[in-house]
Amino acid sequence: MTKFKPTTQVDFVVIGAGGAGGVMAKELSTAGFQVVVLEQGPYLREKDFQLDELRIRNTPALVNDHALQPNTFRKTEQEKAVLAPAISYGRCVGGGTVHYTATHWRFREIDFVERTRLGPISGTGFADWPVTYADLEPYYTKAEWDMGYSGLGGANPFESPRSKPYPLPPMPMKSSGILLDHAAQKLGLHTAPVPVAILSQPYKGRQGCVHCGFCEWFGCKVGAKSSSLSALFPAAEKTGRCEIRANSYVREISTDKSGRVTGVVYFDEQKKEVVQKAKAVVLCANGSETPRLLLLSKSNLFPNGLANSSGVVGKYLMWGSNASAHGIFEHPLNEFKSVQATRSIEDFYESDPKRGFYGGGRIDARYGFMGPISFALTGLPPDAPRWGSGFKQACQEFTRTMALQAFATSLPLETNNITLDPDVKDAWGLPAMRVTYKDHPDGIKTKEFFRERALEILDAAGAIKKWAGPVGETRSGGHLMGTCRMGNDPKTSVVDKFNRAHDVPNLFIVDGSSFVTSGRNHPTCTIEALAYRAAENIARLAKSGSLKAPVRS
Ligand SMILES: Cc1cc2nc3c(=O)[nH]c(=O)nc-3n(C[C@H](O)[C@H](O)[C@H](O)COP(=O)(O)OP(=O)(O)OC[C@H]3O[C@@H](n4cnc5c(N)ncnc54)[C@H](O)[C@@H]3O)c2cc1C
Ligand code: SF4
Repeated sequence: MTKFKPTTQVDFVVIGAGGAGGVMAKELSTAGFQVVVLEQGPYLREKDFQLDELRIRNTPALVNDHALQPNTFRKTEQEKAVLAPAISYGRCVGGGTVHYTATHWRFREIDFVERTRLGPISGTGFADWPVTYADLEPYYTKAEWDMGYSGLGGANPFESPRSKPYPLPPMPMKSSGILLDHAAQKLGLHTAPVPVAILSQPYKGRQGCVHCGFCEWFGCKVGAKSSSLSALFPAAEKTGRCEIRANSYVREISTDKSGRVTGVVYFDEQKKEVVQKAKAVVLCANGSETPRLLLLSKSNLFPNGLANSSGVVGKYLMWGSNASAHGIFEHPLNEFKSVQATRSIEDFYESDPKRGFYGGGRIDARYGFMGPISFALTGLPPDAPRWGSGFKQACQEFTRTMALQAFATSLPLETNNITLDPDVKDAWGLPAMRVTYKDHPDGIKTKEFFRERALEILDAAGAIKKWAGPVGETRSGGHLMGTCRMGNDPKTSVVDKFNRAHDVPNLFIVDGSSFVTSGRNHPTCTIEALAYRAAENIARLAKSGSLKAPVRS
């Protein structure tokens, strides 16, 4: 394995080995650059993953540990934040792409230009993106073919144009998918196969999915999930120019007197501070840790945090909106097998002014649980007994239950943000992440709308019993979008349309933080497409010497 000395000034330090970090590491190292990837979590391999529901439920085996890195939460900036596990993300090499569900939707053309189409929404930061679907299309295709996605291009009547089909056919349809098709036909709606970043067949020397069913929240033991871990880092390491340095928690991005980035300071496994020098830094620490690190990296030159002359760093956090409903059917569905979801309804994607609020999304039919223990603890209907023989009987409905899950928009609000908590510290003595979040009223209406649609669809699918929890305010999230939004104007955005910080010419911010709007709340396909596009541009800038440009005055 390649190793660089921290005193060696490498071409790039990539902070965070998750969805975007994997793309940056692979693309920059294969383009001929020296890359050090610093990841705070461990470097686990496929053989280390355990199909142990209790362990995954009860310990932070693959995700951030709130005992070590606490969050505080408040609904409004007027309140004092209290300790609460508000943010969830993958904390290991591969980041969130190790344990995620891997449903991988492209955004559509409308997602990038909704503000122009619908007009302003008062009190929000609703805006168009500085990139269009056409700009990103080649990079969606690149991600699909490079990493291995499965789907059926053209099967979705609402899909935006694509230049190439998926490299692999869609996953075999589950019972929930067949029932969704049946319901959609009755209701005059349309279904489409769910595209996944999972191999439906062997691809590029990797094994196809064996349908183990321990997928969401688990790492894939056979490497069929197209995570950064399985699909990208092996190619990056093979170049001999990429070192992945795990258990390395970056606490500061350093700058010189001119304001250019010179490297980073991180804690190693023994909590010893190490300085890694670099010609440029690519920050890929996700929509929550990226703004936190920029705010931690304040200096005389950047008193409000690095790359924050706009004051926008940390603002416009979006978690998306979710709603779900469950149903029990007459016959066993055995949804616990394979991936979570195979079919989705797309008819409610666009925001429709006739509904009287902003909001749109998709509904997929899925298993909806981590495993049987989670079903027994959280999946029973509200009237089911929670003890004794009645409880045991209710648990037996496990094989006959399925979920409908809606993934929908949330609006960008300046008041929903990530800041540094003034009182609480993490286990390294750094200020904890403070999350301020309150749904826009349209977000609540969106959830209510989708809850009702999900119940109707369950009826049409023939559920013999159905239920949905009450719609509540969002208090935590794992889809982390916004917080360093992209834009053409340095006064109102943090990065430009190629993910370069407006304020610092050799700093790039490439992850969910650069989102301007939330799409329909499946961010990772677009995170990866943006990363492929940014990497191509960064390589071009580096080769032409343009990374040495002076700091904007
Ligand atoms: C249960 C669950 C299911 C999900 N399912 C889906 C899905 O089906 N479809 C979808 O599109 N999305 C899904 N997501 C979201 C998906 O995981 C994220 O969108 C994606 O991983 C984000 O990529 P990223 O590159 O922005 O950040 P991440 O993948 O979070 O990577 C950031 C990395 O940076 C590291 N890091 C952070 N701070 C530091 C630091 N200071 N020093 C060093 N390293 C640091 C982190 O440990 C992490 O490894 C799901 C999320 C969860 C929690
Ligand atoms: S269901 Fe398939 S992709 Fe998911 S963890 Fe199991 S084998 Fe891997």
